[in-house]
Amino acid sequence: MQTRARSSQTIIELVQGDITHQDTDAIVNAANNSLLGGGGVDGAIHRAAGPQLLEETRTLGGCETGDAKISRGYRLKARYVVHAVGPVYRPNHPDVPRLLASAYRRSLEVAAEHDIHSIAFPSISTGVYGYPVAQAAPIAIATVCDFACSNPQFEIVRFVLFDSGTMRAFADALKHLIAQRPDLTDVS
Ligand code: ADP
Repeated sequence: MQTRARSSQTIIELVQGDITHQDTDAIVNAANNSLLGGGGVDGAIHRAAGPQLLEETRTLGGCETGDAKISRGYRLKARYVVHAVGPVYRPNHPDVPRLLASAYRRSLEVAAEHDIHSIAFPSISTGVYGYPVAQAAPIAIATVCDFACSNPQFEIVRFVLFDSGTMRAFADALKHLIAQRPDLTDVS
């Protein structure tokens, strides 16, 4: 399985696991527009961070789909949580892939405004929001590569994938993108 590549100064890596355990400077939450918590990875992050996370996210004024906001990490190992809102999947709707890419790009832009050099993403929108992971994974990885080309700040961008099917879809996407993009090299 293809699990590591380099894009400019950034190592992009794929691991199967639980994002709440990551020791990267920031972890990304697949949040909803309210930023008041929810199920899936959002619920797991709020449980692990403790009630102060909700106290802070209540003050952030929600978040548009395709955008991201940042909070502290509280009881997490990660110092920050970037709350990104991906789109609910609708087949053949042109806004959907654009909004998914935007959720990843805005997460990196918001993180880049802080002293963050390593960041971990879940697979945004591919749970309750229904985005087919085979379509979402190439968008996720290509968006991170595009950002890495112009932002040497990030040393590690890690995708933390909860189940083996999601892990396999991201590994396949990474393999295909390495074959297509000269800026992405195999370092596995
Ligand atoms: P969305 O509403 O954006 O689809 P979900 O939380 O429902 O978000 O699912 C997004 C992805 O996160 C799914 O692949 C799901 O299996 C995964 N996931 C759930 N819990 C965790 C966790 N603790 N760490 C990493 N990924 C998780």
